[in-house]
Amino acid sequence: MSDCLFCRIAAGEIPSKKVYADDRIYAFHDIAPKAPTHVLVIPRKHIARLAEAGPDDRALVGDVVAGAAAIARDLGLEHYRLVVNNGEGAGQTVFHLHVHLLGGRPMSWPPG
Ligand code: AMP
Ligand code: ZN
Repeated sequence: MSDCLFCRIAAGEIPSKKVYADDRIYAFHDIAPKAPTHVLVIPRKHIARLAEAGPDDRALVGDVVAGAAAIARDLGLEHYRLVVNNGEGAGQTVFHLHVHLLGGRPMSWPPG
């Protein structure tokens, strides 16, 4: 989708601080980090939110989550949190599926 911010970031049309890329996923530093490490991992395919991932997207969603874990390992993070905000009421502001990888500080529970 040409008007989607994260589609355009994954396509290289809008600059980002790339952490990892392959033919299925793209990862980059969040522009407003909420932790010392705050990376966003996205599928290259446009999926507006997790609830809109279909049966054919199950492997891709797995690639995003496994990709986040691999990036955490490569960054030397032993303790980290993955977050998916699904819908405005859950805090989603960009409607292209993304996993937040947060680390480098203690995490409280429950989340806000
Ligand atoms: P969410 O609120 O879960 O939809 O997360 C969207 C995230 O995208 C927020 O943490 C924003 O800081 C981040 N963000 C928005 N625009 C950009 C951008 N141009 N580059 C990197 N991160 C961005
Ligand atoms: Zn998109």
